[in-house]
Order: sequence, then structure tokens, then C-alpha cells
Amino acid sequence: MKARSHSTRRVSGKKLEILARRLRDSFGVPVRQHSFPEPLELLIATVLSQNTNDINSHRAFTNLKGSIPDFTALDSASPLKIERLIKVGGIAKKKSRAIIKIVREIKKKFNRFDRKTLKRIGRDQLVESLKEITGIGYKTAACVSLFAIGDDDAFPVDTHVHRILNRLGIVDEKTPDKTYNAVKDSIPSGMGYQLHINLIKFGRTTCTSQKPSCFGCPLYDICGWVGKSMKTTSNKPPVRDRRSEFMLLENV
Ligand code: SF4
Repeated sequence: MKARSHSTRRVSGKKLEILARRLRDSFGVPVRQHSFPEPLELLIATVLSQNTNDINSHRAFTNLKGSIPDFTALDSASPLKIERLIKVGGIAKKKSRAIIKIVREIKKKFNRFDRKTLKRIGRDQLVESLKEITGIGYKTAACVSLFAIGDDDAFPVDTHVHRILNRLGIVDEKTPDKTYNAVKDSIPSGMGYQLHINLIKFGRTTCTSQKPSCFGCPLYDICGWVGKSMKTTSNKPPVRDRRSEFMLLENV
């Protein structure tokens, strides 16, 4: 299958490299936690992560896995049973249906859905192929590449990543999907993982959606956001919340 072309402008890899280095100085080089999750488990985990926090979606995932260890059997499980198991993560009815549908479509579309097979497909083709499945977008598809296949050049764009890259002026895009297409081919070699993880940490602790802590921000001098401000009511560093460091897809 041929990857679709997109009209979104590509960005300079140099800017992304500077950003990756700055974030590395603040947050360090993230280390992968343990062995890669199975691709199907990763997909189910991303469905469970919608509209909830990492802790509750992890609980939902653990409940589901504890009761139905083989996720390829989820398409024949009772929707009500799945709903009950994942209730802690919210909108359980919708997620239960989405999970069943994804497993069915994956089985129809892929002869094998293991890491080795998916790796051979190639990132762009895999992402576009997964995107044809109902309920899977660019972010989820790129997460499969990054977390389940271990492709360090993959770069999922979620709302944190989209917001920060736009505030910094690295991209000027309206949606995470457009941001993804603008940066996906410019990620410095082997740095997709650390850039993605560190941007999420930065978005959760410093460059938050509503009240970014521009005072003391390590990227202040390279940030092009007109709303940035050095005003602060406190000179205390942002509170370090362990919950902001838990990465669901790292702990599947
Ligand atoms: S200066 Fe403010 S808006 Fe810019 S990256 Fe830092 S926290 Fe975000």
C-alpha cells in the first residue's frame, strides 16, 4: 500500500534537535521501562486512555488483562463483560464497542499482528494502514511504532506535543494530525522516543494548557508564543507530581 501524501509543511530538523537537547538537559534521557508491549495490547491501552488519566486507564487495562489475558479473544467477549471490567476508566460502553471493533478489523486486515511482522511493513505504511481502522488515528498508530515496535524515529503527536510545538513556533498547525505530518520526517535520528516522552513531561509540568509556567521555563528564549509571560505569583519551582511522571504506554 502506498502512503498518502499530505500538503502540510515540513519543519526544520535542526529546530527539533535543539528542542530535544534542551529538554534532555531538564528531564534527562528517558529509559524504556521494560520489554515492549504486544502491539494489540498497546492499541487496547490507547483506547482505554481516552478521556481519563493514566492511573485509571492503567487500572482498566489491568482488570481487562486479568480477566481476558488473550486480547485476540476480545472480539468474541461479551460487550457487557468488557464494559464492567473497564468501568474505572469511564465511557466504558463506548470503549467496549471500540475495542471489539478494533480487534475484529485488525484480524481482517493483518494476517499477523506481531512486532516482527509490523516492523517489516515500514513506519509510514503501517501508520496509514492502521489509520484505516475505525477508532485509530495518527497518534495511536504512531504509538504502536514507538512503544510496541520500538522504532525510535517514530513520533506520536498528542495534545501536549501539538500545543508546545505550536507555542514554540516550530509548527503553525491547527490540529495534532497536521502537526504530526509536518514533523514526522524531520525527527532527529533515533530521538523520537526521548523527544516525545520529554515533551509530555514538559507539557504536564511546565507548558500546561491553561497556565504555562513561563517564569523559569528552560525554553523561554526560543519560545515564539505571544502569550508567554515572565510574570509569576510565586518563585517556587512547579510541584513535582508523581502522577505526571507515570506514562501509561510505558507501563502496559
Ligand atoms: S515560555 Fe511559556 S509558553 Fe513558551 S514553552 Fe515555556 S512555558 Fe511554554
